[in-house]
Amino acid sequence: MQIVHISAECYPVAKVGGLGDVVGSLPRFQSEMGHQSSVVMPMYRTNYLYTHDWEVVHKASSNLGHWWFDYTVIKEKSNAQGFSLYLVDINGLLDREKVYGYEDDVERFCAFQIAVANWLSSWGSLPHVVHVHDHHAGLFPFIMQHTYAFKKLQHIPTVVTIHNAQYQGAFGWDKTMYLPHWDSWKRGMLEWQGTINPLASAIKCAWKVTTVSHSYLDELKFMSNGLEPLFEFEKGKCMGIINGIDYQVWDPAIDNYLTENYAVNDVEKGKLRNKEIICKQFGLDLNKPLFIFIGRLVGEKGADLLPQVIHDSFQHIGRKMNFLVLGSGDKEVESGIASLKKIAKADFNEYIGYNENLSHLMYAAADFLLMPSRVEPCGLNQLYAMKYGTIPVVRRTGGLKDTVVDIGEEGGYGILFNHAAVGDITQAVYRAVETYQQKETLHTIRKKIMSLDFSWNRSAKEYVDLYQSFY
Ligand code: ADP
Repeated sequence: MQIVHISAECYPVAKVGGLGDVVGSLPRFQSEMGHQSSVVMPMYRTNYLYTHDWEVVHKASSNLGHWWFDYTVIKEKSNAQGFSLYLVDINGLLDREKVYGYEDDVERFCAFQIAVANWLSSWGSLPHVVHVHDHHAGLFPFIMQHTYAFKKLQHIPTVVTIHNAQYQGAFGWDKTMYLPHWDSWKRGMLEWQGTINPLASAIKCAWKVTTVSHSYLDELKFMSNGLEPLFEFEKGKCMGIINGIDYQVWDPAIDNYLTENYAVNDVEKGKLRNKEIICKQFGLDLNKPLFIFIGRLVGEKGADLLPQVIHDSFQHIGRKMNFLVLGSGDKEVESGIASLKKIAKADFNEYIGYNENLSHLMYAAADFLLMPSRVEPCGLNQLYAMKYGTIPVVRRTGGLKDTVVDIGEEGGYGILFNHAAVGDITQAVYRAVETYQQKETLHTIRKKIMSLDFSWNRSAKEYVDLYQSFY
């Protein structure tokens, strides 16, 4: 099958979070299964652009309302990612350093989708499936099905994968002219609660809707930032497919970012060596269990609770553990975390910012990964942590609930808690510290989690089965 993924992120070209990881790996697995899988994304000014060779495959013009723009589609020459990678260059709009966060993001992603539709319409043989990801590509199914200019695309099956329904990309009807002329009878296919809502539109228009875990899909019917009735209404075409992880990138045995590589048979030695480096770098005590948090410092991840959790853990459990936080996000949360430095001795430190290398080293060095998420569509961190022998301490929600079993249950290997509340999380930290002291149990769990299989093999096939159900 010929599969086209449309996304704002794709690792290692441009990544902000889990969306990048998924779009950077799923297509490769589909290609390995014998399909022609490709990714189309905006051409940002990221390092990847300058370190790879490109060929121009298409050049044309299109319009965003009254504004005509030229665009160029370039293709990575060496197939370095294991799938065809196309970047869309629109001068002045997409060629920026960051992926999101600009005032004209609506214009940027509308123009991107129009350019892609224009390019796809010029193909001699059309793809078998168009797979769009999150709201940045959410208008694409509508554009294919209901705009006059792109009628040629209207019968191609479409799938939307929702990596995060909190962000929907809604904008006002005053910007309706950005969309190519469309059948006005179809206004309802764009609309949600008085706005043009790209994510809602994708849910209405796509042939199938997938979420990145089963439990997240169940939760969206009750808590999806206003889309609850839509998920309930469209439940017949929705399904959960859990994300896989890419063991070519995330495997402590081959990971170049680590100080020492290790596998199941030498996990204790390997982790200790990496922990020594991290403890030295951040002034932490090697003999205490190391808890890490890696992620966006936002309420969704429960990051705002961390200062109080760390404070209370020291107060109620004692200074028996280290915490190391890596992330960036809300300024208030960042300064709340930084303020802990005042009480820190050799047991707390932080790195505010994005650092891919450091994240790998931290997964390897840590004893426990803390994820107090309020919402977690799938969560990749807990999957990476487990591959590196780091025990997840996570809230019972979304994909965390689907991938971690509590040590109190038969065959369990993680620590779960129910509420994103300081008391519950601190109690879980206490359980982790107790577990750390039982060296044999700790070793058994480490070996077990490193051997669990969260590879893409099964999930990539589930997506292909879904595409094949259209034919
Ligand atoms: P999200 O909701 O942010 O997409 P996921 O758990 O799905 O959450 O994916 C998060 C990904 O981003 C993981 O690969 C994680 O290691 C990475 N990540 C998040 N914040 C940082 C950071 N500050 N530095 C390095 N990697 C980060």
